[in-house]
Amino acid sequence: MRAGAEALMQERDRLNRLDADIGDGDHGANMARGFAAAVERLNGAGDALAPADAMRSVGITLLSKVGGAAGPLYGSFFIGAAGALRDRSADAVDAAAWADALDAAVAGVQRRGKAQAGDKTMLDALFPARDALRAAVGDSVTLADALAASAEAADAGAEATVPLLARKGRASYLGERSIGHQDPGATSSALLLHALAQTWKRPSQ
Ligand SMILES: [Mg+2]
Repeated sequence: MRAGAEALMQERDRLNRLDADIGDGDHGANMARGFAAAVERLNGAGDALAPADAMRSVGITLLSKVGGAAGPLYGSFFIGAAGALRDRSADAVDAAAWADALDAAVAGVQRRGKAQAGDKTMLDALFPARDALRAAVGDSVTLADALAASAEAADAGAEATVPLLARKGRASYLGERSIGHQDPGATSSALLLHALAQTWKRPSQ
């Protein structure tokens, strides 16, 4: 979560610019502010927090702090993940558990936003990321490599939103003019999955 907050802060202006192209230009600011608040709350709770409780805490904070569609969607993402990690200690969150968590997180987003693949939303990064993580777990690669493959798939998915016509959210009001721009939500999703993968690559993990 800390790495995610840092990445969002670093990429805040880029996410704002992407959102300005097809939305109202605040996605970077909203996400950076929401994650800063989420991390502050986690820091206050201490390191003994179980993974599911940490995920739920972040989801609830994002729901209340992030404006536009991103708050409810990312809130549903982390609350979905919390459900899958219920009753697991931090030591018990292995690659298969992460894959279950990402499945549930993506299902939460889909339930909330009702978007399909190809609608030019965050799901266009999350679907391939979820599938890549599941496939990597099936191949029994290390957790670090599985998360890296998932983040790479999210990147490719985010880049593949450029030629798409937006069918959901504010960008859909632009119709054909939404074509030729990368979706900001898909971009922030890929960024967060990279932060997760980078964190697991560190020697201390
Ligand atoms: Mg916006």
